[in-house]
Amino acid sequence: MSLEGKTAIVTGGARGIGRAICIALAKAGANVVTCYARSAEACEETIRLVEECGVKGMCVKADVSNLEEITAMVDTVKKEFGTIDILVNNAGITKDNLIMGVSEEDFDAVIDTNLKGAFLFTKALSRTMLKQKGGRIINISSIVGVRGNAGQTNYAASKAGLIGLTKSVAKELGAKGITCNAVAPGFIETDMTASLPDSVKEATLASIPMKRLGQAEDVANLVAFLASDEAAYITGQVICVDGGMAV
Ligand code: NDP
Repeated sequence: MSLEGKTAIVTGGARGIGRAICIALAKAGANVVTCYARSAEACEETIRLVEECGVKGMCVKADVSNLEEITAMVDTVKKEFGTIDILVNNAGITKDNLIMGVSEEDFDAVIDTNLKGAFLFTKALSRTMLKQKGGRIINISSIVGVRGNAGQTNYAASKAGLIGLTKSVAKELGAKGITCNAVAPGFIETDMTASLPDSVKEATLASIPMKRLGQAEDVANLVAFLASDEAAYITGQVICVDGGMAV
């Protein structure tokens, strides 16, 4: 499985799952560009790790909910790398609360980052991929988008929205050799889940058939496969990486 000569954009690659995806794609031979909203130093560190794999890397400040910043980033990548073959919409946030406590501002913030960001990037790159007659779009959803979760109405709605976006893009662009799939992680140990109470972690662990929490690399390995030529006939799918949690 080789991604040699390909260029990937991975949103939110400074930390966690995004960083692991950047490294997995780089190990497979792809040049990797990623963006951050707040974590500049961590993003530079990701690119250092990417370049250790012998490929080109680039880190850009671009908030995925900001159309101007995305447009500028995509223009820069096209100039520097020529093609953009792989898009991984990974950037995401949570602002958890029971529905009565979710403010309109928190609802909008989660939808803008997790769902609108993926829409804006996919739209910005669809013309490029159509001209190239091929491409890979991978959206990082969540099992919460499949099953729902108390205390995460905004987050679950954004992740379920990503699944609708994925299936629709797969139908629109499939005839041009562009695949679009969603990856739905279960509980992965990253900054996003680090602050959850031990009681939540223990209850989650008890519901996972494989009896371990997921690692960022578990998700990244699937993303690298979906980005490859070997995954050319897989599109419109939602694939869980959750140790069997959703079964
Ligand atoms: P982290 O909180 O560890 O990392 C989130 C990343 O997203 C950071 O690099 C952050 O960068 C970036 N980001 C957030 N907002 C923006 C923005 N507006 N513009 C650009 N970048 C942004 O989360 P995870 O690694 O755990 O999560 C990655 C993805 O996986 C998310 O979409 C999440 O919803 C999903 N997921 C995670 C699960 C888990 O258990 N951890 C389970 C299921 C899905 P910065 O600091 O610069 O903002």
